Amino acid sequence: MSADSFKALIAEGNSSAYTVAFKELTNDALPPDGVLVEIQYSSLNYKDGLAVTGRGKIIRKFPMVLGIDFAGRVLESSSADFRKGDEVLGVGNGFSETRWGGFTQRQRVPAEALVHVPKGLTLKQTMAIGSAGFTSMLCLIALEHHGIQPGEKEIIITGAAGGVGSTAVALFASKKYKVAASTGRPELHGFLRGLGATTIIDRAELAQKSAPLTSERWAGGIDTVGGQTLASVLAATAPYGAIAACGLAGGAELSTTVFPFILRNVALLGINSVLTPRPLSIEAWRRLALELPLDKLDSLTTTEPLSAIRELAETILAGKVRGRVVIDVNA
Ligand code: NDP
Repeated sequence: MSADSFKALIAEGNSSAYTVAFKELTNDALPPDGVLVEIQYSSLNYKDGLAVTGRGKIIRKFPMVLGIDFAGRVLESSSADFRKGDEVLGVGNGFSETRWGGFTQRQRVPAEALVHVPKGLTLKQTMAIGSAGFTSMLCLIALEHHGIQPGEKEIIITGAAGGVGSTAVALFASKKYKVAASTGRPELHGFLRGLGATTIIDRAELAQKSAPLTSERWAGGIDTVGGQTLASVLAATAPYGAIAACGLAGGAELSTTVFPFILRNVALLGINSVLTPRPLSIEAWRRLALELPLDKLDSLTTTEPLSAIRELAETILAGKVRGRVVIDVNA
């Protein structure tokens, strides 16, 4: 590799058939406009698993540099908002879908898709959070807007041992919500209790078909699983509760009845982190730096080299990743 070149993971082909390979690029191969960033870390999200393996239609433009998250330092900028040396991050915003993403050592990115690393977080910690942790904060903000406050009744978090789930458990517990964590992995019960969960629910319980309304159990919830799990959670949500739906790790279908909505005033709140307007992104990152306990974040994070991305993509799709994985793009 020459001094000017760097390594990037690129998908080439079209949406029905593509190959993914590491290529050497130079700066002039990057998108022409925007802020040039020297990337240090990326992260592994479920969507990265889908894009790397080709098992989900994530990429909408080819060729595409994969990776939906990144953090690094500004190398060149003509934007008044960013100066050389600034620490920045990017999550969502179409990276790895319509815009070149973060599984690379350098990227050029529109200034409006970048956020300064908030005070109190390192580059690596921002990627330990990544799209998953950012989404858990968006869920918290959505539930707060709906009026869900810490109280006697629990918040249910499904897919709790995964990336969104584990950061949500740590975040909601630190905000004094009572957290019930639903997981399919008995070996991670201790891990989830360590993050602050007070009740553990076997995910098989939520996967069973439920009556349209069951006993009023949850004040609110974060659902990363979809399918019957989401239907079961809605059926057991207490009056005026709300469920933030953000994932489909268990399925994209939703078969429910209107009863939770028309008899209990339950709300179903949709969350798509990719569409987050910049002011809300900045606010969410500011709050993550202040409100997510960093010792808990460290305890749920592992670091892996970009060179292992194919194996990691299989592992996350198999539901076997514990917490969050930071990707070191220089390894
Ligand atoms: P992870 O793989 O880290 O976590 C998913 C978790 O879901 C697993 O750890 C597992 O939890 C559970 N799970 C997996 N398969 C099944 C299944 N078949 N049935 C029930 N539970 C299952 O992924 P992420 O946390 O990165 O993402 C979770 C979901 O959220 C994905 O669907 C992703 O696309 C979505 N997402 C959405 C965002 C948005 O903006 N809307 C942003 C980020 C993610 P356990 O082992 O504890 O049972």
